Amino acid sequence: MPFILNNDNWLEFENAHVWHPYAPMGGDYLPYPVKCAQGVRLTLEDGRSLIDGMSSWWSAIHGYNHPVLNKAARKQLEQMSHVMFGGLTHRPAAELGARLAKLTPDPLEHVFLCDSGSVSVEVAIKMAIQFWHARGSSGKQRLLTIRRGYHGDTFGAMAVCDPETGMHQLFTKVLPKHFFAEAPTVVNDADWQDAHIAGMRDLIEAHHEEIAAVILEPIVQGAGGMRFYAPEYLRQVRSLCDRHKVLLIADEIATGFGRTGTLFACEQAGISPDIMCLGKAITGGYMTLAAVLTTAEVSRTISTNPPHAFMHGPTFMANPLACAIANASIDLLLDSPWQERIASMTEAFASHLLPCRNWDGIRDVRFKGGIAVLELSHPVKMASITRRCVDRGIWIRPFGHLVYVMPPYIISSSELTHLLAAMTEAVAEELAASG
Ligand code: PMP
Repeated sequence: MPFILNNDNWLEFENAHVWHPYAPMGGDYLPYPVKCAQGVRLTLEDGRSLIDGMSSWWSAIHGYNHPVLNKAARKQLEQMSHVMFGGLTHRPAAELGARLAKLTPDPLEHVFLCDSGSVSVEVAIKMAIQFWHARGSSGKQRLLTIRRGYHGDTFGAMAVCDPETGMHQLFTKVLPKHFFAEAPTVVNDADWQDAHIAGMRDLIEAHHEEIAAVILEPIVQGAGGMRFYAPEYLRQVRSLCDRHKVLLIADEIATGFGRTGTLFACEQAGISPDIMCLGKAITGGYMTLAAVLTTAEVSRTISTNPPHAFMHGPTFMANPLACAIANASIDLLLDSPWQERIASMTEAFASHLLPCRNWDGIRDVRFKGGIAVLELSHPVKMASITRRCVDRGIWIRPFGHLVYVMPPYIISSSELTHLLAAMTEAVAEELAASG
């Protein structure tokens, strides 16, 4: 086995020895090698340039290789890239805490900084359980969530992902058992009926003494099906939680930082959760970092009762390099016309994608903010549709029945037109090929 790789053998070695997400080792579907990335373009090793439709899974909202973020990274590197957070602290963490407390809905004000979205979900779940333990209600150890959700790949997070359509069936027997309400089916507040909340209400009413928190993705369910639902559903959940002494955890890991058209999706319902998870776009896609925001009530209850500490503390907690880049990324976002950018993406989605509604083989076309989804009647063949897209100069990553985009906010209108035209052509070709 070679130790030092060269231009001729590195890719072969990589394909045979390095895991990729949700992929077999050494499978037939080979990843595309990227040499560099700039703005909204990924440059492949063979020189081809692709317009990125994925923002590297919701994260690279400012595009790639951004001078402002590069500068922030360099400046922080020259001071320190990491230092332990146990017993020590640093300014980038304080600055990030201040920004997040200010920007997230009131009364969220305290922050736990951790490594990744999944870990932030673990932290949120542990906080909810520890909160009720501190209150003398240690019977409240279970979660209530909605079907079609996705919250991450670690054990606590897997246990609140959709148990059937989720990707974790294999592990069902070792996962804690939680409560699942039907996924919301109402898309617009105008169509709201009491029946839409009945399942959720029945579960809370029957089991609130065991339930520490409801956890859900507000307004947009991402990797569990790219589904959108009405703000009224969220308002109803908030009031059920209040009525029955259950905390509300909003997983804004995908929706946070403007993607749905408001800075946080909860704003669309005018509600605030007790605990909020943020990740992905928090560093503009530069570094792995996540945050868990809580109300003062949650954090003080945990802190003023035995064991007088929140029981979690990862090695890379509040990594200064990631925090410094997050601060620069948040400032860059707020200084940009992000609302207009998202609004013009939505308009482009409408004009380019709505005609596909009439195509045979397309079950649904939907979009919200900077997210657009074509839902096909049959599962997509990922390798072949991806190749058709790459051949047309775009990068997207379909799954299940879904072909979807959430481009970097800085995408120009001509790049977006190219992305959407190439995506619809690739889908049309794929549908024709599969008869
Ligand atoms: N929650 C949501 C809503 C997500 O979309 C994701 C990632 N797709 C996660 C949690 C997990 O985040 P990570 O991949 O950073 O662990």
